[in-house]
Amino acid sequence: MPARALCAALAVAAATAAAAQARVDLALVDGTIITVDGASTVAQAIAVGGGDVVAVGSSAEIRALAGPGTPIVDLAGKVVMPALISTHVHPGFQKGVTYVAENFGRDTVMNDLNRALYFGVSVVQSQGIERGDVLYRIRAEQSAGTLGGAKLLVAGRGIGAPNAGPGAAAYAGIAYEIVTEADARRAVEELAASRVDVVKIWVDDRNGRAPQLRPALYGAVIDAAHERHLRVNAHVFYHADAEGLVAAGVDGLVHLVRDVEMSDALIAQIVARNVYVNANMSSPRRATQVGIPAWLTPADPLLKLLAETLSPELLAKLDATFRQRNPQAAADARERYAILERSLRKLDAAGAKVVLGADTGVEEHLFGLAEHLELQAMVDAGMSPAEALTAATRRAAEYLHLDDRGSLAPGKRADLLVLDASPLDDIANARRIARMFIGGVEVDRAALRAQIEN
Ligand SMILES: [Zn+2]
Repeated sequence: MPARALCAALAVAAATAAAAQARVDLALVDGTIITVDGASTVAQAIAVGGGDVVAVGSSAEIRALAGPGTPIVDLAGKVVMPALISTHVHPGFQKGVTYVAENFGRDTVMNDLNRALYFGVSVVQSQGIERGDVLYRIRAEQSAGTLGGAKLLVAGRGIGAPNAGPGAAAYAGIAYEIVTEADARRAVEELAASRVDVVKIWVDDRNGRAPQLRPALYGAVIDAAHERHLRVNAHVFYHADAEGLVAAGVDGLVHLVRDVEMSDALIAQIVARNVYVNANMSSPRRATQVGIPAWLTPADPLLKLLAETLSPELLAKLDATFRQRNPQAAADARERYAILERSLRKLDAAGAKVVLGADTGVEEHLFGLAEHLELQAMVDAGMSPAEALTAATRRAAEYLHLDDRGSLAPGKRADLLVLDASPLDDIANARRIARMFIGGVEVDRAALRAQIEN
């Protein structure tokens, strides 16, 4: 073998050996690392290599792994946690202060995904009402590495009974409207051909305006989807529907039951059958508030994030929504909300798999904002901050079959937030984002902010 070829071969061998020892190309030390790894591991420092977490440990251990040229970030007491994962969003409808079907398009969707990332959300699962191929194209470009923003997972159009899709006028005519089991199978086949990440169904009567999706029909959807290894998520309102769906093998309930508190029997079935549940508290909670909520006051770090990314007009509109609220309507909403809080406490106590889903992207429930309000709502309802973080990271990743992320255990993607203070002490500290790394690469937050319009 010529000498030069031998040298090249040796160099390759050396590089391979180094990779086997897990190259470290970034170390963050002297902070608090909340790994959310399932064993509640909290460390001082973290090593990143090739976009993944290489190790967590004491600052001395992690410094020892770093090579002489490895950049070392002094966290100076700051706190690191996995980036958030949001499992129930609807991008593309809000543009400035308007919320109409005509807004739906690539720019509006990208604006939502960029805002989500700015607020610390690295992955979003859309839950239906997706028109045309806009979301599929964005997903493909993100997968190819040519487009940024929070990683988008799609559900396509979604499936319901005629006129029973989601409520607002902006969503009319998007979901499949099925009346026979053959329709159900055809809709699932089309969605599967488009390689959706999940199938979404709406089953309730939309407050009396539409027929319910009969058990035979949602059963057909669930069976057809499972044959194609697709999971089914259901929008649900009534307790009886939730019972039927769980018995039929639904994979996720993307709302709590809203007519009554969830029974012990239903919760036992949810746990036994491994059904994931969105608490989805933050959107209904907004109707309970009269006057300006704490998160819209200057002392709250959420207002800082909002002011950095929203027009003054939209901020003023948010303010006005709360100022003008009818106190009686708010009192009624509080009674309905109390049902949700009781059900969530029962689900949590029973060990149900609660994941963060906030119906992000319904009117004025903005990307990023919704997720932080949802974390707060879960904690205020009685979940511990650690449980809420798990629901928003590791368990959400598990639910979405994203095995490569969701915690800061070695081998997982280094998608992480650097916070000024610990969300285990106060969940609102998750809003105090100092820096952010996605796949081990720091996000230029000023550049990201400059891309966001509104
Ligand atoms: Zn929804």
